[in-house]
Amino acid sequence: MSGTSAARNDVQHAPRPLLLACYLSGVTTLGLGLLATALLRFERGSLLTMSGGATLALVTCFALVVLGELRPVISSRSIDPMGVALSTTFVFSVLLHFGVVPAMVLHTLATLLSGAVGRHTPRRILFNVAQYVLTNGAGWLVMVALGFVPTLAQPWTPTSLHDLAVVAAAAAACFVTNDVLVATAVALFAGESPLRALLADLRFQLTVSSAQYGLAPLVAVLMQDAPSLVVLAVVPMLAIHRSVAASVESHRQATHDDLTGLANRKLLVTRSRVAVAEALRTGEPCALLLLDLDRFKEVNDVLGHPVGDEVLRQVAARISTAVDPDAVVARLGGDEFAVLLPRVRDAAQACELAHRVVTVLDDALEIDGQLIDVEASIGLALVPEHAAGYELLFSRADVAMYQAKADRTGVQVYDATRDESSAARLGLISELRVALEQGQIEVHFQPKAHLADGSVAGVEALVRWRHPVRGLVPPDDFIPVAEHSGLMHRLTDVVIEMSLLQMAAWQRAGMTVPMAVNVSFRDLLDPDFTGRLTRRLDDFGLDPGLLTLEITERVLTADMDRARARLVALHAAGVRLSLDDFGTGWSSLRLLRELPVAEIKIDRSFVARVAVVEADAVVVRAVTQLAHGLGMQVVAEGVETALTWSAIADIGCDVAQGWHLARPMPGPAATAWLSERMLTPATSTSTAAAPRQRARVADDGAVALHL
Ligand code: C2E
Ligand code: MG
Ligand code: MG
Repeated sequence: MSGTSAARNDVQHAPRPLLLACYLSGVTTLGLGLLATALLRFERGSLLTMSGGATLALVTCFALVVLGELRPVISSRSIDPMGVALSTTFVFSVLLHFGVVPAMVLHTLATLLSGAVGRHTPRRILFNVAQYVLTNGAGWLVMVALGFVPTLAQPWTPTSLHDLAVVAAAAAACFVTNDVLVATAVALFAGESPLRALLADLRFQLTVSSAQYGLAPLVAVLMQDAPSLVVLAVVPMLAIHRSVAASVESHRQATHDDLTGLANRKLLVTRSRVAVAEALRTGEPCALLLLDLDRFKEVNDVLGHPVGDEVLRQVAARISTAVDPDAVVARLGGDEFAVLLPRVRDAAQACELAHRVVTVLDDALEIDGQLIDVEASIGLALVPEHAAGYELLFSRADVAMYQAKADRTGVQVYDATRDESSAARLGLISELRVALEQGQIEVHFQPKAHLADGSVAGVEALVRWRHPVRGLVPPDDFIPVAEHSGLMHRLTDVVIEMSLLQMAAWQRAGMTVPMAVNVSFRDLLDPDFTGRLTRRLDDFGLDPGLLTLEITERVLTADMDRARARLVALHAAGVRLSLDDFGTGWSSLRLLRELPVAEIKIDRSFVARVAVVEADAVVVRAVTQLAHGLGMQVVAEGVETALTWSAIADIGCDVAQGWHLARPMPGPAATAWLSERMLTPATSTSTAAAPRQRARVADDGAVALHL
């Protein structure tokens, strides 16, 4: 037990290059030192007294050891320096029969030879030599301890059951020493626990090694009695080689995807289980990225399956190059891939890596001379932040991936508030229901001004939730939840009610303030919406032409036919319609021509840099000309600076909205702001709303510019 907990405390979470270098040099020095000592103490005279049979046996063994070293079976350990070498049987039989020095020399020569053939680095070759010297040394120590000291002059051949016990003890010492030496190097390289590295493929190593060590006493008997037949031992060795290679291959097939060679779902699940358990234990997160290719089906349908397969292969290769070596890249089937990051700092780091994957897929793939563009959507989730088990981790990453696809954002971290099944989201819905009942919903108003003369052009109503614990919650945090929960109608009704109430109050105070209210696609699907709205306008005695409904382009793409019918009805009722966040969605020019839209609001992502980025200025100018050509008004959103203000004025936009003019304000602050500009006779119309430099803090902490 204590061994296990000590090993657990040992766990490190990053490769340890310095420690690895120290370890490799330590083992190498120790091994080579031992080899030198053994050679110095070796009685060279015994070479001269060797019989012809013994020489033949040694030479045959040497040839077989070289063969074995050159044909290792790669173990399941991905970075095991040597895999499982088939030379073990012959080296061990020499150790049993002739003693440690011949075994060490044989093994060293064979390792040097195979290292040279395989063009291994000198450091690696020397480490392997040292590792084998120490392995043979351990077996030798056990034999000496048990009173068996064979030499070239006095070879030993196991003949009894008692002898077999000695063989077993020496084999166990060799096996443990070799496995511990290799596992420690692997663990230091991968930054994991040595115990874990040791246990990772212990069964595999044990199975193969017991067959190899088990054959050695028989080879020792042949060396003694029929040296010319030693070579026959290669037959069972080859059989072992074949069966091990077949089992490694079938294991590989069972855990890898045929087409791409990546890990398959089964292996991913196994690795995820381990990573999740580790993350929960240490608190250091692990992350899962699920990646789905956009429009892959079209590639398959149009260009055929062979091209589709090649796309998947190239995508697999690119993903693999984008991630760190300890990440597990898997293909889950179809065009779905996954990347498991066993250790990440936080969601931001996982996100960075996900973006790296998206970036490597940016360049078109070249297949048979054709360039094919692929795009991917990636959803990611983390343990322990989003899930406490691998199953939940998978489903959360899946939800995030669908969000990424729907939003076309490329990468999306799991967001509980958008997950229809998450407890957090369900909690938010019931809290929002309470908020609507208990009057926690507020509407703030952000002014807009005509760019030509600075006069007030109206206000936009922006909903806020004054949460008892979280404070003022912005709409982006709860509108998506409301939209998918059936609460949206009630929320819109509340916002419209408050906005009309405010408009009517301003009207009574002598200010006619056009009002813009945002509506979601849910509202437009509601058949009673138009009727309810016109009734309320009527009740308040307000001119429908003073009300603008802002709709985003997404509304139009969701259910175009129904949306169009509703918009036509609203237009017929005299309500103005505005296309919000223009430029961020996918609306076509045909839509603009067909819909009764009076205004376009150019998204702030274009407006913000209009004075500094020429491309943005070109877009804003073109949209403005287009809108004017279609008889629409143009509003620029998000005007934050004087520079932007004059740039969009120069371009010819009609109206500006943004912090440079005023931030959204609660009703009383907005009333004060408007009265100063609309009721004070001293204020000339030409500068009525144009911003000045003095700032005033509004009731909700927002800063409003003050004339
Ligand atoms: P929107 O309709 O595009 O509203 C403009 C957003 O830009 C507002 O964010 C506003 O506070 C912010 N904004 C204004 N001037 C500036 C500026 O100069 N710089 C920057 N960086 N931002 C500025 P807010 O209030 O957080 O609203 C976010 C979105 O939520 C709105 O975008 C709108 O789509 C939605 N929304 C707000 N209220 C409602 C509502 O009552 N119903 C519905 N369906 N959606 C609403
Ligand atoms: Mg808006
Ligand atoms: Mg907008």
